[in-house]
Amino acid sequence: MTSSSNVKADLGARLREIVGDDGVIDNPKELLVYECDAYTIEKNLPTAVVLPRTTEDVAAVAKVCAELNVPIIPRGAGTSLSGSVLAVTGGVMITVTRMNRVIDIDYRNRRALVEAGCVNAWVTNAVKAQWMLYAPDPSSQSACTIGGNVAMNSGGPHTLKYGVTTNHVLGFEMVLPDGEVVWFGTTPDGGEDIEGYDLRGAVIGCEGMFGIVTRVLVRLIRAPQGYKTLLGIFENVDAASETVSDIISAGIIPGALEMMDQLITQAIEAAYKFGFPLDAGAVLIIELDGLQAGLESQAERVIALCKENGAREVRVAQTEQQRMDLWKSRKRAFGAIGRLSPNFLTQDGVVPRSKLPEIMRFIRKCSEKYGLRIPNVFHAGDGNIHPLILYDERFPEQVRDAIAVGNDILEKCIELGGSATGEHGIGVEKIDFMAKQFTKDDLDAMRALRTVFDPQGRCNPHKMFPGSKRCGDFAPKKQIAC
Ligand SMILES: Cc1cc2nc3c(=O)[nH]c(=O)nc-3n(C[C@H](O)[C@H](O)[C@H](O)COP(=O)(O)OP(=O)(O)OC[C@H]3O[C@@H](n4cnc5c(N)ncnc54)[C@H](O)[C@@H]3O)c2cc1C
Repeated sequence: MTSSSNVKADLGARLREIVGDDGVIDNPKELLVYECDAYTIEKNLPTAVVLPRTTEDVAAVAKVCAELNVPIIPRGAGTSLSGSVLAVTGGVMITVTRMNRVIDIDYRNRRALVEAGCVNAWVTNAVKAQWMLYAPDPSSQSACTIGGNVAMNSGGPHTLKYGVTTNHVLGFEMVLPDGEVVWFGTTPDGGEDIEGYDLRGAVIGCEGMFGIVTRVLVRLIRAPQGYKTLLGIFENVDAASETVSDIISAGIIPGALEMMDQLITQAIEAAYKFGFPLDAGAVLIIELDGLQAGLESQAERVIALCKENGAREVRVAQTEQQRMDLWKSRKRAFGAIGRLSPNFLTQDGVVPRSKLPEIMRFIRKCSEKYGLRIPNVFHAGDGNIHPLILYDERFPEQVRDAIAVGNDILEKCIELGGSATGEHGIGVEKIDFMAKQFTKDDLDAMRALRTVFDPQGRCNPHKMFPGSKRCGDFAPKKQIAC
C-alpha cells in the first residue's frame, strides 16, 4: 500500500509534468490563500492547487487524480459564500482562473463562447459597444467567474426580471472526474441538443460536484433601450418592504428592486460618500428598464407607490453617471462592512415577498437577542434576504452566536414558506438544512444523480448532503485519498 507522503510526492511530480512548475502550488504558506472561500468560518488547506491553461490540462489533471484516488475541487474566483470551495479533506484544487478568455462573440446569433475562468463582468464589457449584455450580474461580478456562476446557478440584482444563470447558458464543456471531456446543451457550432434529457439544466447548480466546467456558451441579450433608476428613501424597513410588494402587485416588474437598511447605508457612506441620508431607516434602488416609451409613466406610478408608503423622498438618476453611482454603492456594500466589523457572515434565505416585513422584524429581534449587529442589503424583489451578521473571530462566543443567529433566521425563512438558500448554495454551511427541506427520497434521488457523473464521489466531496464529513472530522493522515 502506498503511504500518503509517497502519494503526495508522486502527485506533485505528475501535476508538474502537465501544467509546469508555475502551474502548481503546494507550499503550505502559498496554499493559505486557498484555505477557504468567502465563507471564512471553516478553513482547511488543499493538498495542492493546479492552474491549468487548457481543457486538455484539466482532463490530464483529472486523470492523474482518478488514478491516485485523490479528491478534486473545482475553483473559480473563490467568492462562494457557503464554503462550497472548501477542501474538506484536502485534495487537488483545480483553479480555472488562467482559462479566462472570451473566445468568440457571435452577434448574429446573440451568443458568446467563453472560458470558464472568464470574469462575469468581462462578458458584458466585451459586448456593450454593440448594445448587448450578459444578464446574470451577481454583486460579485467584478471577480466571480462564469464557471463558478454555472456551478452555483448564480443570480443577482437583475434576476427579478431576467432570471438566473440557467436561463442564460446555452451549453458548456465539462471534464468529468475521470478525465472524459463532454459537452452539454447547444454546441459552439450551433448544434442543438434537443433530444433526450436536459443534462445542461441538471448540471447547472451542482456546486462543482459533477465535474470541472471548462468552456461556456452564454446567451447575449439586447441592452434595454432606456433605464429609469430611482432611489426611494424610507423612515423604516417595513415601509420599504410594503412598497416592494405594492410595486409588483401593480403589475410593474422592475429590472431590479434592491433594499439596503440604515446600518449598511451608514457603512457605505462612511466608506464611499454616495450621499445617502444617514438617518433613513431603509432605501430602495428601483431600476425600471425597457422601451423608452412608457418608462416615464411607470416611474411616476412607482414614485406614487413609494409616497403612499410614506417615502420621505424619491430621487431619480438624471444621468448615466448617477445611475452607475447608485449601482456602485449597492455592489460595493459588502466591501463597506470592513468599516463596521472585522468579520461578517453573509446569510442567504428566501421568503415570499409579502413576508419581508415579518422576516426583517425577526432579524431585528435576533440581533437584540444575540447582541450582534446585522445590516441588511438584499434582492427585495425576489424576497431573497442577505442579513450580514457582524462578529469578531477573536471571540469564540461571537463565532458561535453568529452561526446560531444565522440558523435561527433560516429556520424562520422556512417557517414563513421560503427556503434556506436563494442563490449562495449549500456548500458546507447549510448541509443541516437539506434534511429540513427535502425528504430522504428526494436526497437519495439527488445522490443517485450525482453518482452518474461522479461514481466515486471524488469531485468536491463532503458538500451538500447530510452525513457529509466536516473539516474537524479528519486527522491529517487522511488528507489524501479519502
Ligand atoms: C461580495 C459578494 C457578492 C455576491 N453576490 C452574489 C449575488 O448577487 N448573487 C449570487 O448568486 N451570488 C453572489 N455571491 C456568491 C458568489 O459570488 C457566486 O456564488 C459565484 O457564482 C461564485 O463564483 P466563483 O468564480 O467565485 O466560484 P467559486 O467560489 O470559486 O466556486 C463556487 C462553486 O463553484 C464550483 N466551481 C467553480 N468553478 C467551477 C468550474 N469551472 N467548474 C465546476 N465547478 C466550479 C466550486 O467547486 C464551488 O462549488 C456573492 C459573493 C460575494 C463575495
